[in-house]
Amino acid sequence: MPTTAEHLRIALDGAWHEARERARKDLAHEKFAPHYTPETDKARAITLEQMRILAEHGYAAAGFSVESGGTGDAGGAVASIEMLAMSDLSLMVKAGVQWGLFGGAVENLGTERHHEKYVKRLIDLDVLGCFAMTETGHGSDVQSLETTATYDPDTQEFVIHSPTPSSRKDYIGGAAQHARFASVFAQLVTQGETHGVHCFVVPIRDEDGNDLPGVTTSDCGYKGGLPGVDNGRIVFDQVRIPRENLLNKYADVEPDGTYVSDIDNPSRRFFTMLGTLVRGRITVGGSAGAAARVALSIATRYAE
Ligand SMILES: Cc1cc2nc3c(=O)[nH]c(=O)nc-3n(C[C@H](O)[C@H](O)[C@H](O)COP(=O)(O)OP(=O)(O)OC[C@H]3O[C@@H](n4cnc5c(N)ncnc54)[C@H](O)[C@@H]3O)c2cc1C
Repeated sequence: MPTTAEHLRIALDGAWHEARERARKDLAHEKFAPHYTPETDKARAITLEQMRILAEHGYAAAGFSVESGGTGDAGGAVASIEMLAMSDLSLMVKAGVQWGLFGGAVENLGTERHHEKYVKRLIDLDVLGCFAMTETGHGSDVQSLETTATYDPDTQEFVIHSPTPSSRKDYIGGAAQHARFASVFAQLVTQGETHGVHCFVVPIRDEDGNDLPGVTTSDCGYKGGLPGVDNGRIVFDQVRIPRENLLNKYADVEPDGTYVSDIDNPSRRFFTMLGTLVRGRITVGGSAGAAARVALSIATRYAE
């Protein structure tokens, strides 16, 4: 027979009680004990180690479709990330970037070829990625991003480039140290015409963690409250990627450079693409609520 407290927990957990219980079990591991260090190297290493434990327990599968190797339980994925926020906000952000933002972009903006190549590996952390949307000069106003992805039909490649100081990718979680790949948001240019912001998978580091040719990363340094997240900056100098690295669910470029999309209106296309990423924004709100509940609990115990 469940106790009154257990009944209450089940009622308050709501629809995703099971996902929350699973997270509680994972977070009971000694490696998730509260820790605080202002030393970023140490804090980042702990956070990555915690992510590897979660990955071994299949934590991230809920956020991805069954066809790509997940279990397709979006609500469960949001509930699970809220649980991480009750444990450690660095862990919540780092997990959110890898699985929710980078993984979410590949899953929701990509097609079969991207799912096959990346999704299982990013769930298991064999591929570490980051989500490179924000630029030094462009935060909320994503439509004005300046990074360019110019198609070269001779080699069937896109050339990723940061043309100005304000086009530098900035405050990107994972870009300072751990990420090997980035989902880069850039203005797609082909046959001399700009078609607005699209997303591309761009390798940024080799296996030893060195910047690849044409890629320059730097570190945003220590952040109060999020010491375990390696936020960084990325500058691209004419970096070439295969045509197939365009995440092409909503638009594509044919080998000869012809741009094709089922959505004619550029604004509608842009907001359709961004709309698929809304789960990342919901988890930020959900996590803030979870952190506030923890703060309330600490304050109440202290008052008692
Ligand atoms: C800890 C952390 C981690 C991050 N990780 C990533 C990441 O992994 N990848 C990534 O791409 N980005 C990341 N970012 C960047 C984040 O996405 C941007 O900070 C965010 O989009 C806001 O942009 P901004 O900081 O340039 O602020 P701005 O857009 O310049 O906004 C400044 C202020 O103006 C207000 N404002 C802006 N536009 C309007 C408007 N039209 N009407 C009214 N008010 C407005 C805003 O609400 C805000 O108060 C991260 C940021 C932080 C703090």
